[in-house]
Amino acid sequence: MKFPSMAEADGRTLGDEEVAAAERVIRSGMLNSVWGTEARALEREIAQVYGSRHAITCSSGTAALHLSVVAAAPDPGDEIITTPITDFGTVAPILAQNAVPVFADVDASDGNLDPAAVAGLIGPRTKAIMAVHLFGAPARVHELRALADEHGLVLIEDCAQAWLAELPGGRLAGTVGQVGCLSLQQWKHITCGDGGVAITDDDGLAGRMRLFSDKGWDRAAGRSHAAFGLNYRMTELQAAVARAQLAKLPGVVAARRRTAARLLEALRDLPGVRLPRPEGHAWWLFPVVCPDGDAPELAAHLAAAGIPARAGYLAEPLNRAPVWEAAVYGASRYPLDGYAPNACPEAERLVDRTLLIIDWNENYTGDHVDLIAQEMMKFRARS
Ligand SMILES: *Cc1c(COP(=O)(O)O)cnc(C)c1O
Repeated sequence: MKFPSMAEADGRTLGDEEVAAAERVIRSGMLNSVWGTEARALEREIAQVYGSRHAITCSSGTAALHLSVVAAAPDPGDEIITTPITDFGTVAPILAQNAVPVFADVDASDGNLDPAAVAGLIGPRTKAIMAVHLFGAPARVHELRALADEHGLVLIEDCAQAWLAELPGGRLAGTVGQVGCLSLQQWKHITCGDGGVAITDDDGLAGRMRLFSDKGWDRAAGRSHAAFGLNYRMTELQAAVARAQLAKLPGVVAARRRTAARLLEALRDLPGVRLPRPEGHAWWLFPVVCPDGDAPELAAHLAAAGIPARAGYLAEPLNRAPVWEAAVYGASRYPLDGYAPNACPEAERLVDRTLLIIDWNENYTGDHVDLIAQEMMKFRARS
């Protein structure tokens, strides 16, 4: 059975609407968002979906996260607490601003930051907390925001995998921290190839992020540069395609929730697995925890049956990545002189032994789900 893939047309929602959007931009003659209308319109539409005062489009999710770190304004050498189970796009912006990532351990049930572990690492140099809603499961950001407020820190929410994820109480993931970050990269819920958005209710932070994304150029002040910045602008082509995709987002998430509920129901009584909690989940992937440590064997069994499943998600948790032993700028290790990342035993066990991920897609049918369930039960019956 062929599983729809986010790398192919059968697993994407790209159609006539996106073709028309790209054509509209090309025929207009204006492909740059400084003078065009599409990126500004996308910002209004995303701000409306999220109920946020500001949305700032940019070239990637990593760029959006870099903007969020700029907004948090660490001094060189300040620390930002984050999770070791995420895309490197969460962590690279910390280094780009000469700040130091501090890895806190995760909750073994879903791989999201454990607020107690975060609390234990807050020190005099801590400037911000970057939480990730991993695989689409809502992280405990209400607790993290309380912690951040208590210590005067900025909370950043990385929602690259969690479009329309809902928090307990009903708010959307991304609206509890001072800044929320979204990605439109090829493998996310909706895509324009690459693209990112930062959302915030804070006028000051929004201004700082917008300035940084446009070379520090305050367009109202003539050809005058107010602050350090880069060119992180989204193009009109990206924005127009993203607008067409945004209109399809509720359907994408609803379809993923429907088939995920079917798999949860089918696996309800399967021994040796901990199923994800469905509340608020956006189902970027379908993660399963195998507490006995046989996720690699189960992943191999599923893959052999043609199911897109893998163990661990990462080759190693980011606290054990080779990058922490390498030079950062030229031959210099700054700002990592004397740096050694913390051990994160729960994250390490998840990545090494207990975490299984199954690719998820809005175009899965009941037959796809039933095959996954059947093969998982077959593996358990044998082992
Ligand atoms: C994809 C992703 C990013 C980076 O986004 P890009 O658009 O690929 O730069 C950051 N964080 C998480 C959790 C992601 O999944």
